[in-house]
Amino acid sequence: MPNKEMLLIPGPTPVVDEIYAALSQETMSHTDLRFAAIFKKALAETKKMYNTDGEVFVIAGSGTLSMEMALINTVAPGDKILIVSHGYFGDRFIGVAQALGLKAEVLQSAWGKPVTPEEIETKLQEGGFKAVTVTHVDTSTGVVSDLNKLVPAVKKYGVLFILDGVCASAALEEDMSREFGGHPEYKIDVVFTASQKAIGVPPGLAIVAFGPKALEARKKLEKVGAYYADIMNWLHIMREPNIYFATHPINMIYAYAKGMDIISSEGYPARYVRHTAIGKAIRAALRVYGMQILADEADAAPTMSCVIYPQCVDDVKFRSDLAQKGLIVAGALGTLAGKGFRIGHMGNTSNQTLIKALAYIGEALQEQGLTVNVDNAVRTFEREFAETVKG
Ligand SMILES: *Cc1c(COP(=O)(O)O)cnc(C)c1O
Repeated sequence: MPNKEMLLIPGPTPVVDEIYAALSQETMSHTDLRFAAIFKKALAETKKMYNTDGEVFVIAGSGTLSMEMALINTVAPGDKILIVSHGYFGDRFIGVAQALGLKAEVLQSAWGKPVTPEEIETKLQEGGFKAVTVTHVDTSTGVVSDLNKLVPAVKKYGVLFILDGVCASAALEEDMSREFGGHPEYKIDVVFTASQKAIGVPPGLAIVAFGPKALEARKKLEKVGAYYADIMNWLHIMREPNIYFATHPINMIYAYAKGMDIISSEGYPARYVRHTAIGKAIRAALRVYGMQILADEADAAPTMSCVIYPQCVDDVKFRSDLAQKGLIVAGALGTLAGKGFRIGHMGNTSNQTLIKALAYIGEALQEQGLTVNVDNAVRTFEREFAETVKG
């Protein structure tokens, strides 16, 4: 067991032993056909995860490179896009758009609330938008976007739908072949993630999927202002990964292939249900401690939560007490800094780990003089989990 700590931040997430073992396999040549076979299998599994007949790209980088690739390959400098932002990571697209010379308009929700489909439609009715970006789960607020509402609201206007799945892919369904609202044109066009969130592999890979409409958009652009991030340079490489364009992160691909194997063995529907159940269970258990969840229950993400302390909890002491016990959680961001914390509950994090974390959280609150019932919180977690899985 290499893990000595419980890393329950919203990414990187806990890495299981099999993935560490894969990571430390002997490094092969990047043009070795045995390596190419491992990579091809992982790419096929990635296509399955997104259920796409388009193209997937897995390259060295982080989620931010994925964001950049999504935009630079679909829209040109001067084009108008709409950024739907539910917090810090939605806002990150503003910086990306500025760097690429795009005209970005932004719809920002109040923290903890989602942007409504009506607001999006009102904006798109102004016309001239080429793409809309939506964050599936915003890692600052724990708000999940309702794709059933947002995809039709965007696609009605013939605009590309770009989905940031960094805190969602492999935990929430992102089916690129799905016809939302029963309409053949209402589909997700681009979705992307990184290796270190719900996939449960160490950080280091950008994972991007382009559907047919997005690939058409790239072809229409001809040249783009990037070399490494230009998907046209990677298209044939992703089909034949032994061909050289830029050196693959060999060991990370071993780890990713193992990560995708684990996901495939669990099965996508089971993995999605498990995350939904964990989200409900952890939120219910934290409420037993007098904590509040920033997002309303209907908008709360299955993968991570932004949690508000009861009054008079000292944030620094709370999180350092937890760290001493071996539990790492993240601070709240923006105006919530000091008032709450963020906890990741995604990927290959086990229920056992989460139950242990709940006990530590209860103890840390007791150390600050609060009267809390750890057994009750743990029982609530177990009950809510079982009930949700049962359906
Ligand atoms: C983590 C995250 C990112 C950024 O990913 P990096 O790997 O840190 O570059 C982008 N979007 C969301 C929703 C995230 O959670």
